[in-house]
Amino acid sequence: MRIDIITVLPSLLDSFLNHSIVKKAQDKGLVQLQIHNLRDYSVSKHRTVDDYAYGGGAGMVLMIEPVVNCLESLQKDHQYQEVIYMSPDGQSLSQPMANQLSLLQNIIILCGHYKGIDERLREHFITREISIGDYVLSGGELPAAVLTDALIRLIPGVLSNESSALSDSFQDGLVGPPVYTRPADFRGMAVPKVLLSGHEKEIEQWRFEQSVKRTEQRRPDGIPGSGK
Ligand code: SAH
Repeated sequence: MRIDIITVLPSLLDSFLNHSIVKKAQDKGLVQLQIHNLRDYSVSKHRTVDDYAYGGGAGMVLMIEPVVNCLESLQKDHQYQEVIYMSPDGQSLSQPMANQLSLLQNIIILCGHYKGIDERLREHFITREISIGDYVLSGGELPAAVLTDALIRLIPGVLSNESSALSDSFQDGLVGPPVYTRPADFRGMAVPKVLLSGHEKEIEQWRFEQSVKRTEQRRPDGIPGSGK
């Protein structure tokens, strides 16, 4: 999978790209991540990418021209299935959506800033708008990192144990069961006996029951996007 991220703050994404699972996935050649500085596509000599909003009001708006220049330059070399804009009023990111997007070959993610982006971009160039929750952040970089992480860990071979992503919360419309590690007893707080029993079937059954119980307790209205 190839993911191109367009941003005015590339340095905000550096550390995310160069650590942990995301870094390993790139090293293994399972994902290609490219960050593009929107300023490189500015048409002004001061590398300006934003301007005042028509009609007045507070806040700058990302201009259409640099973004379209960047998109067209990427689209010359690759065919993209989605051009995604991270936006608080977009469709809420969910596990089923991440599953679906992780199957695509090439995607572009545009990070907004300031007051947002020129509406004509949303009307004519963006194919999908995704929100990471009903709150407003100052830029689309953290949302883009959230989306990218959610997608990358689903690509086969990225996690050491492939079934691991499938047993996470939300994959089957349930939240995940509790997990424990050593010691088996910490100051009288013991790990449930069944987990130490070595009986695979019983452990699987226990985990399933815990997931069902937790889902009822924590998500009494069901899990959004899962259809359950
Ligand atoms: N004026 C806009 C908010 C702009 S926030 C509005 O009222 O909707 C600046 C940028 O941060 C946005 O362009 C978007 O790319 C990003 N952003 C902020 N909150 C977000 C969220 N919850 N999900 C996804 N992107 C978000």
